[in-house]
Amino acid sequence: MSDSAARVLIVMAMEAEAEPITAALRLAETTGPSDLPCRWYRGAADHLDVLVAVNGVDARFDVDSIGTVPAALNTYAAIQAFNPDLVISAGTAGAWHRDGSVVGDVFLSGVSFVNHDRRIELRGFDAYGVGSHPGIQTRDLADRLGFKVGIVTTSNSLDETPHDAERIEASGAAVKEMEAAGVAYVAEQAGVPMMAIKAITDLVDDPAPTPQQFIDNLSVATELLAEAVVAVLLELDEETFTST
Ligand code: SAH
Repeated sequence: MSDSAARVLIVMAMEAEAEPITAALRLAETTGPSDLPCRWYRGAADHLDVLVAVNGVDARFDVDSIGTVPAALNTYAAIQAFNPDLVISAGTAGAWHRDGSVVGDVFLSGVSFVNHDRRIELRGFDAYGVGSHPGIQTRDLADRLGFKVGIVTTSNSLDETPHDAERIEASGAAVKEMEAAGVAYVAEQAGVPMMAIKAITDLVDDPAPTPQQFIDNLSVATELLAEAVVAVLLELDEETFTST
């Protein structure tokens, strides 16, 4: 890895999702922010300098700090410290039978990141609530690696209310999770290109409850996620970063 190696920041919510990636890339733990529970791991992956920034375990609740607020804080701190050329939100997510998705599918993000739970019916604020933060073009990358492409939609809830369902249908999103729009908001403010890699743990329109599907499929999905993250890193080039 040279001094001029491109820097890629990978923001992740759960230790269990990150572990196979930090192990596969043999990243070493490095100092993160002292006032947040984040855990950061850094090292070389082929031609890249990679920082995996995990939101960390909440000190009071003793669970992973999932959701948009910890993700945004972690992303902000990591962008300040690491000055990345690309930000990736990586993790697990839900998808839908109606789109032909199955557990274990890997999605790369579409050209925007949206929120489905920020309903603000005031002129101007409605679009602000949705967000539509920009993502890079991932279609070529996805085609080369055999992944799907879909718009990622974010909220701070694991379930899907009827209101959420309406908004998700309107945005055409195919992937539902709890962090990407928070990460994309910070990347947009900082002017850093952004994408996501999401492995599907559960199908929102399946009769089985989402939490049960999530628990049953987490380990298989995180293995597939790790393989996908490594494959994307090896395939990344300067052109991908700048293709908006
Ligand atoms: N820690 C809990 C549950 C994690 S919540 C446990 O282990 O039981 C779900 C996490 O996975 C979030 O970080 C979210 O981004 C992602 N996720 C997976 N499926 C999801 C879905 N259907 N809706 C929202 N988030 C989902």
